[in-house]
Amino acid sequence: MSVFNAYMTLSGAVDATVTRDERMARRTSYRIGGPAALFVAAHSYPALVRTIQVLAAEGVDWVILGKGSNLLVSDKGYDGCVIVLDGEFSRTSLGEDGTLTAGAGALLSKVVNEALKAGLSGLEPCVGIPGTVGGALSMNAGTRREWIGSVVRDVVVLRPGLGLHRYEASEIEWGYRSTSIPGTEIILEATLELAPSSREAIAQDMEERLRRRRESQPLGVPSCGSVFRNPPDRSVGALIESCGLKGAREGGAQVSEEHANFIVNRGGATAEDVIRLIGRAHEAVLAEHGVDLSCEVKLLGFGG
Ligand SMILES: Cc1cc2nc3c(=O)[nH]c(=O)nc-3n(C[C@H](O)[C@H](O)[C@H](O)COP(=O)(O)OP(=O)(O)OC[C@H]3O[C@@H](n4cnc5c(N)ncnc54)[C@H](O)[C@@H]3O)c2cc1C
Repeated sequence: MSVFNAYMTLSGAVDATVTRDERMARRTSYRIGGPAALFVAAHSYPALVRTIQVLAAEGVDWVILGKGSNLLVSDKGYDGCVIVLDGEFSRTSLGEDGTLTAGAGALLSKVVNEALKAGLSGLEPCVGIPGTVGGALSMNAGTRREWIGSVVRDVVVLRPGLGLHRYEASEIEWGYRSTSIPGTEIILEATLELAPSSREAIAQDMEERLRRRRESQPLGVPSCGSVFRNPPDRSVGALIESCGLKGAREGGAQVSEEHANFIVNRGGATAEDVIRLIGRAHEAVLAEHGVDLSCEVKLLGFGG
């Protein structure tokens, strides 16, 4: 494989920003992670298609990223190419029928605000969630029982090597932090079907959700949000707390004192520090409660 060849072929030749050895600590909400060998911010569809072609020809692995708010990148980094979607992928537009179409690179917070301003209800469970529309759809972001998937009318994806495909809502299964859209496909755009409502009611609901977030989550400190998925009818935060791990530290990483399902970067944390704490929490909850927790945070560059 040749990252160098891919860099030389793409650099200056496509509508994209192409860099080498991009520090992923700059690209994740954790502020952790070594370099990605190659980094491409694709500004247009032709640039994205060409990038994928070149990477395939050079045998370079790649991954699509949003804002890296649900991601832990290893300290040694990633030896493939990280692709983000911006430029034309960040567009949003309101339809006349209560729909809102958003590119995968658009910030979720921007889309939530546009819905509020237009008096369209349905995105309230997404208020306060960092990241992009693409990341939110890939993760089916929301709360334990309410999620973005429930307002999706259709999703346009790129099937690498095959072309564009449009999924209608009825063809997609959404679950708690999951979607049936294969991880090999690149989400490009979604149209959301929202319900006209009073702006005051939407604003009040959002404000209440933000207040609960501020009261229960460590928002001023770098993190990836929830580390583990909640098992059915159990709260991971309560399970980890009951094992006495609230406040536990490994190097610069700490199980949050405010919410035990958050592991925060207290400054200078390495990915290894976070992994050690994840391991301790997993082992303790398994030993004390017989619950085998699974990670919500995505890992990159850890091999296997
Ligand atoms: C303080 C804080 C609070 C949070 N609260 C919540 C919450 O309440 N609810 C919740 O659900 N999440 C929450 N999160 C987690 C995170 O914000 C969400 O998962 C978010 O939707 C991720 O978006 P992103 O753009 O950052 O995705 P990234 O972290 O960049 O990527 C996440 C996954 O999506 C994939 N992906 C991204 N874009 C695309 C695309 N265009 N096509 C295909 N795959 C793609 C990536 O490959 C990766 O697997 C929180 C995070 C933080 C830091």
